[in-house]
Order: sequence, then structure tokens, then C-alpha cells
Amino acid sequence: MLRVGLTGGIGSGKSTIARLLAENGAVVIDADKLAREVLEPGSDGLKEVVAAFGEDVLNADGTLDRAALAAKAFATEEARQTLNGITHPRIGALTGQRMSEAAEDAVVVHDIPLLVERDMAAVYHLVIVVFADSDTRLERLVTSRGMDRRDAENRIAAQATDEQRRAVADVWLDNSGEVPDITALWDRLVGFEKNVRSGTYASGSP
Ligand code: ATP
Repeated sequence: MLRVGLTGGIGSGKSTIARLLAENGAVVIDADKLAREVLEPGSDGLKEVVAAFGEDVLNADGTLDRAALAAKAFATEEARQTLNGITHPRIGALTGQRMSEAAEDAVVVHDIPLLVERDMAAVYHLVIVVFADSDTRLERLVTSRGMDRRDAENRIAAQATDEQRRAVADVWLDNSGEVPDITALWDRLVGFEKNVRSGTYASGSP
């Protein structure tokens, strides 16, 4: 199994690249999706969140009111840590479980927006950074996703810088223009996976 970390700034195109890799045969683990899963109705995670932050973080139908939780959890550093203390171990356990369910010869791609912010690079055989310059990302977030411009600017500013991402990148994929052809990259990943199993993989191979 080859463990690949896939990251990049908000709106850079991580999900787009993850989808292309999945079409080629990669097992994709979507960190954002797991983060939602651990707070699904009926989950222990959601129960703990309600115990810590109160019933008013729930919608009338019992699902999580994400905006209400965000307002409370990002109000103070202590509250943010309380929320992370509930979610992070559960997301970690679920990620480990999904990895262990993948086939022995799988190329597993972990789509994780905060890989750099969480200092996770060492967990992977290889880190792919999807890059798009911040103006392009801003335009995509505002036009294709309908995000408020100021909100999008704040989100970009709060994340790691391109320099910080470059420092951990084994593969730097420029997605500022056309979506790049990932066929050659996929072939290399499959080759690296074979090397991992035969014990000849050199860390951060490219
Ligand atoms: P987030 O961090 O918010 O999860 P992301 O990095 O996963 O975002 P995507 O969802 O893949 O990014 O892409 C953001 C938006 O930009 C989407 O609407 C997507 O269709 C579009 N997009 C991605 N790549 C390109 C490209 N090369 N050219 C034009 N539009 C693109």
C-alpha cells in the first residue's frame, strides 16, 4: 500500500484531482467527509458536542447546526480546543480504519486540506500539493461556489502559505490553468506502490 497525502489551499482543486485519481483506481479518503461523519445524528461525537456546547447547536431535526457550532467553537481558543478534542481522535480512528480496509496493493489518497497546518507530512510515503494562485482560487470560490468574497479572502489568509506547502511537497501539481493530465503521475504512483511492497521505496521518491 502506498499512502499519499493530497493537500492544497481552499479552492485549489484537491477534490478535482482526488476524483481523477479515484477514476484511475486510487482509494480516496476524504478528510472533510470523515469530519462530517463523526458528528452524524446518533453518533457519540455529536452527543459529546451537545454535552459540551449545549442543545442549541442542533437543528430541530436533530442534525448538527454547523453555523451555530462554529459561532461557539471559534469564539475562544479554549472552545476550539474542546471541539478538536472531540473530533480529532475520532477522525483519526476512522481514517486508520479506512486505510486498514483498503487492499494490500492499494494506492490510498488522503484528501486532507489541513495536512500542513496539522504537520502531518511524515505520515505519508508521498505528499502531493495541488497549487492554484490565490487570485484564481478566490475567483473559483466566488463564481463557482457562490462564496462571499470577503469570507473567501479570510479563509485563504487563515491557511498555510504556498511556501509552507512547497516545503512538504514531493509532487507539485499546478492547477491554475487547465486541469493537469494525471496519467503519468498515476503510473508513477503505481510503480512506487510496488516498490513499497518489495521494500525498495525511497522516502518521498520523486
Ligand atoms: P476545498 O478546499 O474547498 O475543498 P478543493 O481544493 O477541493 O476545494 P475543488 O472543489 O476541486 O477544490 O475545486 C474548486 C472549484 O474550482 C470547483 O468548482 C471546481 O470545479 C473548480 N476547478 C477546479 N479545478 C479547476 C480548473 N483547473 N479550472 C477551472 N475550474 C476548476
